[in-house]
Amino acid sequence: MKLRPRVLLLIAPAILVLAATAAVGQARPLATPDQVRELYTRLLPQIEKIPIFDHHAHPGFPDDPDVDAMAAPPGSSPLRERNTNPELVAAAKALFKYPYDDLSPEHAKWLVNRKAELKKEQGIAYFSNILDKLNIEQGVANRAMMADYLDSKRFVWVFFADSFMWPFDNHKETARNVDEQVYIPLQEKMLRRWMQQENMKQLPASFDEYMKFVTQVLEDNQKNKAAVAMKFEVAYFRSTKFGDPTREQAEEIYKRYVAGGVPPEQEYRTFQDYIFRYLVREGGRLHLPVHIHTAVGIGDYFSMTEGNVMNLENILRDPRYADTVFVLIHGGYPLEREAIWFASVKNVYMDSSLMEVVMYPAAFKDSLKQWLETFPDKITFGTDCFPYNDALGAEESYWLGVQTGRMGLAAALAEMVATGEVTQAKALEMAHGFLHDNAVRIYEGKVH
Ligand SMILES: [Zn+2]
Repeated sequence: MKLRPRVLLLIAPAILVLAATAAVGQARPLATPDQVRELYTRLLPQIEKIPIFDHHAHPGFPDDPDVDAMAAPPGSSPLRERNTNPELVAAAKALFKYPYDDLSPEHAKWLVNRKAELKKEQGIAYFSNILDKLNIEQGVANRAMMADYLDSKRFVWVFFADSFMWPFDNHKETARNVDEQVYIPLQEKMLRRWMQQENMKQLPASFDEYMKFVTQVLEDNQKNKAAVAMKFEVAYFRSTKFGDPTREQAEEIYKRYVAGGVPPEQEYRTFQDYIFRYLVREGGRLHLPVHIHTAVGIGDYFSMTEGNVMNLENILRDPRYADTVFVLIHGGYPLEREAIWFASVKNVYMDSSLMEVVMYPAAFKDSLKQWLETFPDKITFGTDCFPYNDALGAEESYWLGVQTGRMGLAAALAEMVATGEVTQAKALEMAHGFLHDNAVRIYEGKVH
């Protein structure tokens, strides 16, 4: 039977949605709110069933200094990341059956005690159980060092590679502002730990030996410590615009300052430009993907212009690095709409972490939709969970990232299906890609 269009209009909204989703052909600019809501309600439970691979996170307890290679300087948090956010109460209720409706200091004590009890009871299963509750199959632990309380079946290590760029006297670097006073000494500490790991008492006098040491750490981390990628948070410490100096230039600077003396800023930067590019090249040779923090940062002195994701264009589009997989952590936020076009480069991927925590679901939906509409096979999901304090832990931030990620994803796809951009089947395939498949494909055989 052939229905005339006029008859179709009279049929119940649910059937209309079906008709809309089945339609093949020209996409429409508008859908009715009912169509979108209906599709959202249908897609969300299916999305919740997709096991997640979390591409960027800092799992750990708040008293563990290894959750990051840096620490938070004093500064202000955006609205949603403040501990006045009522969503955090919802998180504590969902994960720990928290009995109160606020996080007042007396009430928060209950939560701190409950977590301590569970930690004692469950040991190495504690964080795996949090993943189970959120249907995260496996996740990245981007940490200074891996923790023995994280089960290696569920957490894969991504280490920090910035410290190789700060081997000289850093007095001037540290003195720049109060943020650097926190960060730079921690980079020095990280470098000393790598030296210790390779049984090195002091930095080698020769540049050749220094570069060998850098490679040795990468290989050691990859082969003996199961690291799956290296991470840069360099935007916190200097510009992400990297020049292209020669080896001789870098060597000369190394020789001049390795034994002491404060390098002038320009010379230090030139040296770092060379080291950064060396690490990127090694990442290609070793099949060790390069994760780069690309977004606004915490602290009052994070430079948005110097740390701008667009500064990386000369690196990302350099054919010499075609073998290096780049993951733009935090998707260049708040320039994620521009940054997604880097995903047109075959070896560049985007990660959504942080975006779905600083943005509320409605705003995140819009950003994610634009990503889904351009390079859906190059976008990956991350929570950026972090133990902020005793009450607001990695646990609650896992929950917030996952919930917002799924809601934003379901809402974006509902709109795309309702306007005839994709079929429901295609939408679910995109959901699998974003939450799991696209990232897992990068680490073939190493993650699942
Ligand atoms: Zn992070």
